[in-house]
Amino acid sequence: MNSVRDPRIAIVGAGLGGLTCARVLQQHGRAVTVFEREASAAARPQGGTLDLHADTGQAALRAAGLLDRFHALARPEGDEWRVLDFATAAPLAQQGPSASDTRPEIDRGQLRGLLLDSITGGTVRWDRAVSGVTPLADGTCRLLFADGTAEDFDLVIGADGAWSRVRPALSHAVPGYTGVTFIETGFDHCDTRHPDLARLVGNGSMLVKGAGMSLVAQRNSNGHIRAYIALRAPQDWHVAAGIDLGDERAVRRHLLMMFDGWDESLRYILRNGDNGFVNRSLFVLPASHTWEHVPGVTLLGDAAHLMPPVGLGANLAMLDGADLARALVAESRTDDAVRAYESVMLPRSIEAATASAQGLDHLVPAIAP
Ligand SMILES: Cc1cc2nc3c(=O)[nH]c(=O)nc-3n(C[C@H](O)[C@H](O)[C@H](O)COP(=O)(O)OP(=O)(O)OC[C@H]3O[C@@H](n4cnc5c(N)ncnc54)[C@H](O)[C@@H]3O)c2cc1C
Repeated sequence: MNSVRDPRIAIVGAGLGGLTCARVLQQHGRAVTVFEREASAAARPQGGTLDLHADTGQAALRAAGLLDRFHALARPEGDEWRVLDFATAAPLAQQGPSASDTRPEIDRGQLRGLLLDSITGGTVRWDRAVSGVTPLADGTCRLLFADGTAEDFDLVIGADGAWSRVRPALSHAVPGYTGVTFIETGFDHCDTRHPDLARLVGNGSMLVKGAGMSLVAQRNSNGHIRAYIALRAPQDWHVAAGIDLGDERAVRRHLLMMFDGWDESLRYILRNGDNGFVNRSLFVLPASHTWEHVPGVTLLGDAAHLMPPVGLGANLAMLDGADLARALVAESRTDDAVRAYESVMLPRSIEAATASAQGLDHLVPAIAP
């Protein structure tokens, strides 16, 4: 049974949730191995900026003993929002950094680097894609790798994101399209090369809403602005529009047509990106996603509760990782620890996913706001 003193623990996925879990386990002297599909930490750019909330992401970093190092890297001034009018770019609402509930911003790559540096060398086995898991009759779990090999563990933690290969052991749920696509673009050295845009965005984030379309732009570190052109549209919107997504000029022309009537300072985002366009269809799990406990396997982060990207996903993934690790340290039986974790994490996630679905409706309203 999986009540052994030194359980063999595998985490699938070296994202923010999996790494937080590994770090907290190691802080308490527990052995853990992380299996990651990518070939190295530098295999792909990690994406934009994240604001870490006091009660979730920051709480997880405190549990990991990394809060001071986080604050040394974070941008407190980035916790600033402004909403502009689409026709004039005039400010409609503005919110500065809050003294009582600070949410400093950090680049996702910096945060992942901080977590990776904090764990023992060799913990992450790179280039080890997992293809599935099989819970075994004795309460342990078999991890199946894409290269055809297998290894048994007392606990397998699926921290492998939206398209988790661990999730099918627990639930039949499959992510569905939200009806919203983000088209991502970026601006380098914004203060010198794109000064008007830099002024519009300020130190934090800028949001502009229209009917079924929005613009979101966020300042990252090193003078980079990342922008999302959000469309409420079918997943294959480009097929219907006769556009090849690889044809940057065609995408730009189409977007400029769609954003006709928007202020030219905002249309600048469509015209002048330095990094082309990346089409990101947004998928979610059902907000009520849950499962019956299965010994030897559990999930955290997006694998458990993929929700719209309105500011909670990474925060919750990290809190899940810290909570699960702390439960494993506190309980003598692995299975009791996992049950305790799931009893807290699942209801918390349902509440957050429901709020995030509403958040997406506010971010990209179907009708003119
Ligand atoms: C555009 C956008 C903006 C966002 N902004 C925010 C924000 O501002 N704030 C916020 O809190 N959240 C935000 N999110 C959500 C956030 O990115 C996710 O919720 C978070 O990354 C989830 O972390 P995770 O560790 O669960 O999964 P991931 O970060 O997805 O990590 C999963 C890891 O598992 C690995 N993996 C996958 N499959 C396998 C396999 N078969 N075998 C081995 N390894 C595997 C992957 O390579 C990856 O390293 C945003 C998301 C998007 C798309």
